Amino acid sequence: MRYRSTRGDAARPRFCDILLEGLAPDGGLYVPEDYPQVDTATLARWRRIYHEQGYAELAFEILSLYIDDIPADDLRALLRRTYTAEVFGTGEIVPLRHLEDGLWLEALSNGPTLAFKDMAMQLLGQLFEYELARRGETLNILGATSGDTGSAAEYAMRGKRGIRVFMLSPHGRMSPFQQAQMYSLQDSNIHNIAIEGVFDDCQDIVKAVSADLDFKRRWRIGTVNSINWARLLAQVVYYFAGWIQATERDDERVSFAVPSGNFGNVCAGHVARMMGLPIAQLVVATNENDVLDEFFRTGVYRVRSSADTFETSSPSMDISKASNFERFVFDLLGRDAAQTRALFGEALARDGRFDLSAHPAFAHARERFGFVSGKSTHANRLATIADAWQRFGVMIDPHTADGVKVAREHQQPGVPMIVLETALPIKFAATIQEALGREPERPAKFAGIEALPKRVRVMPPEVERVKAYIETVCRAG
Ligand SMILES: *Cc1c(COP(=O)(O)O)cnc(C)c1O
Repeated sequence: MRYRSTRGDAARPRFCDILLEGLAPDGGLYVPEDYPQVDTATLARWRRIYHEQGYAELAFEILSLYIDDIPADDLRALLRRTYTAEVFGTGEIVPLRHLEDGLWLEALSNGPTLAFKDMAMQLLGQLFEYELARRGETLNILGATSGDTGSAAEYAMRGKRGIRVFMLSPHGRMSPFQQAQMYSLQDSNIHNIAIEGVFDDCQDIVKAVSADLDFKRRWRIGTVNSINWARLLAQVVYYFAGWIQATERDDERVSFAVPSGNFGNVCAGHVARMMGLPIAQLVVATNENDVLDEFFRTGVYRVRSSADTFETSSPSMDISKASNFERFVFDLLGRDAAQTRALFGEALARDGRFDLSAHPAFAHARERFGFVSGKSTHANRLATIADAWQRFGVMIDPHTADGVKVAREHQQPGVPMIVLETALPIKFAATIQEALGREPERPAKFAGIEALPKRVRVMPPEVERVKAYIETVCRAG
């Protein structure tokens, strides 16, 4: 399998060439040259594999279609080490739970940090360690987080050979549980830096450090952001596993509802559908930051300013633009790289928006690609959490609640609707308290985590201070 940029760059790299990279050289995103097709017989075989041999073997079947530069035995071993009952809490890895008539929850958040980002990040840790060892290289991962991504990256990379993590977070602004999750890690390759500022200050520092190409090269600085193709690919697997659990026949269709921010999660659903998984609808659920809902309703994609980006009670969906969206639009435009570049490289840079409402392809978003959307507000979130608890005794987190709210608006008779559960309630205790007047359930392994000793360095929002710290750590070896 070769990969190509959505903006037409001539290079055709393979999987391991793009594993440690971010954007393509022309600013586009990497996509596979074509989507491997699966027929009903293959789906039937994969159904048996999942039931008899488990999630890791299913993942091997899917990922080996996209990765041909890692020997099969090595890839299989990596996947078996990643998707274990010890790490993800159950043998099914992503068990389905019935909520109400025709509506299911797929649990993606029983990994180490209790959010769906573990599903991909845990594999990324294994892949990075493997590929760096093969090349005899090391990598310093620099990132900024407002919560879920940073902790998922740290728990995936802790103790990995050849890798250090420098993670910037806004001092005192994450939930006490999230702070404890990150700062209690004692691994010597994990470095928490609490910046006296907001999340945007953290992100600005990461951008400034990455823009210093000299520094970046000398200290081998890399990232693990959501546009990484390997992360997206890892997520494709749980769409197949969800469909297998919700159906009995191999031609039966299901729909998925996905709490969305950067469009990484639901883009993996799009890839699964392009491969031939019988998905009726992909339901994009947003919160008050409704960039994506606006596009799927009107055809206008309009990036928000930071003043127009709201801080909400489903904070992991608080985005001003959807960084993976270009991958879908590329397919929507019939894989026309020149048109994709004109929209994302030129129109967005110039106007901060583009308008496909009059473009013939826009109608295809719903008709051919199955996309529909909706949005949810703080009041909707509280009501949905309270309703799920009172009627079914099921406690859901605010992001999953956004998914359930929008899923109900798009249910079709006879088509199971699977809502992806993207985090556990304990990560967002204040909102659960507001909705239910009680504390969320806490998994036993997190008892008393807030009292553990913390390993974090507090710094003012100054690029030079962060650079100096990275240098000191790297020189010390
Ligand atoms: C990251 C995240 C999302 C949004 O996922 P995208 O891939 O950015 O669309 C939703 N819910 C939770 C809990 C998350 O951590």
